[in-house]
Amino acid sequence: DTAIVWFRRDLRVHDQPVFEAAAARARRALAVFVLDEKLLGPSGAARRTFLFRSLRDLDASLGGRLLVVRGDPAEAIPKLAGAVKAGSVHIAADFGPYGRERDEAVEKALGERDVDLVRTGSPYAVEPGKITKSDGEPYRVYTPFSREWAKREKGAPADTDAATVDWMDPSEKDGGPRAVTIPGDESVEAELPEAGERAAREHWEAFVDEHLADYDDLRDRPDKPATSRMSVYLKYGVIHPRTLLGGIGTSGKGAQSYRNELCFRDFYAAVLWFYPRSARENFDPKFDRMPYDTGKEAEERFRAWQEGRTGFPAIDAAMRQLRGEAWMHNRMRMAVASFLVKDLHLPWWRGARHFLQLLVDGDLPSNQHGWQWAAGTGTDAAPYFRVFNPVTQGERFDPQGDYVRRWVPELAGIEGKKVHQPWTLAEPPADYPAPIVDHKAERAEALDRFNRL
Ligand code: FAD
Repeated sequence: DTAIVWFRRDLRVHDQPVFEAAAARARRALAVFVLDEKLLGPSGAARRTFLFRSLRDLDASLGGRLLVVRGDPAEAIPKLAGAVKAGSVHIAADFGPYGRERDEAVEKALGERDVDLVRTGSPYAVEPGKITKSDGEPYRVYTPFSREWAKREKGAPADTDAATVDWMDPSEKDGGPRAVTIPGDESVEAELPEAGERAAREHWEAFVDEHLADYDDLRDRPDKPATSRMSVYLKYGVIHPRTLLGGIGTSGKGAQSYRNELCFRDFYAAVLWFYPRSARENFDPKFDRMPYDTGKEAEERFRAWQEGRTGFPAIDAAMRQLRGEAWMHNRMRMAVASFLVKDLHLPWWRGARHFLQLLVDGDLPSNQHGWQWAAGTGTDAAPYFRVFNPVTQGERFDPQGDYVRRWVPELAGIEGKKVHQPWTLAEPPADYPAPIVDHKAERAEALDRFNRL
């Protein structure tokens, strides 16, 4: 008898409870990935390319036995189950708005053939939906959520590898969807991190050895290599957060602080699970009546923001890092988001969409709720009237100006923190723009619009 292991965003062979579930049900299993245009289309070239590379690595780990097909999973998976006479299809549950609907459709279609869809685990340390207040209501604030999370998070990886399952040779399947080759790299402007499970592990171990102890002190510094850059591996499940949590324990400031960030990832996934509409709409509906700028000048400002030529060095450095690395430092994600919403008076979802086009770690819950947090429309934390100053953010978190000089070559000749205010120089660089807005005036404007709500 045969099972199907359907990979989605768990592109690894270690720490895979799904493998254990499949091996317990059937003698052998077929490994499958479905290229689904509904997910690939909005992903952006960086993310698609990283995904394809990750799939090639997974295929190699499975001895070349990963079957890749193209189409709508609600058709492809049941047909495959028929072709290999599978009794069960095994997945790690998905919790995003689309993934949830897709899995329900697949489950229904499989049910008509008497095939079970078996969900084991999730891409999170604690499954979205599991943590609620005592009355069953979801948490809307991070801190009390994090207390419950700490009690439940186990940090105990499953002991699996490719040999946990006897993988079926896909060429033995009789009919069903046609195998396709994994697409090649697309043209991507950014330099991407190395894909694959071994790369993820090595990268993680180097971070723990070299940077974890200082993580709490330096995590806000975009000029230092102080954060783990594990987000892209977590996005595609090349490594599971359980493995990371198990590897750092609970003692030490660095480990504690790192645990908090992984908890944020779970928190936003849980918020999106309970409030799927918050992917597109203000979490706090009070902001639905907020007026935004429109018209030609607003569009020009939006383009200046996208292209990193707002005349605010830290903002421009960050927007260019986004293009250059398909990644941006967390502190700068907050700063550029605040700038778009409160200095340019543009809606957060436009910025969020731009991020999702370019980020290699682009992920709906963390991105949409990161944006809503910065816009003041989301869960707890940043009240709307806390407006980041784009100059002082740079001066505080990039105190010597190294980050700006790295990403904005027009300013590379300016020494020290003066680089954050080139307009104060006797001779500002001619090829760098003057600030496109007056921060003080736009801050007052943002507060005024807020007060009128
Ligand atoms: P580290 O500092 O090393 O953190 C470790 C891990 O914790 C991260 O890999 C990530 O999984 C998680 N984490 C850290 N900070 C956050 C956070 N604020 N919210 C949720 N999880 C967090 N993260 C994404 O993974 N994808 C996104 O699309 C995304 N968009 C964002 C948009 C905005 C406007 C903001 C403010 C934040 C966004 N984040 C997003 C969260 C955060 O910026 C990134 O996870 C982080 O910068 C990734 O780098 P790192 O792995 O070096 O982080």
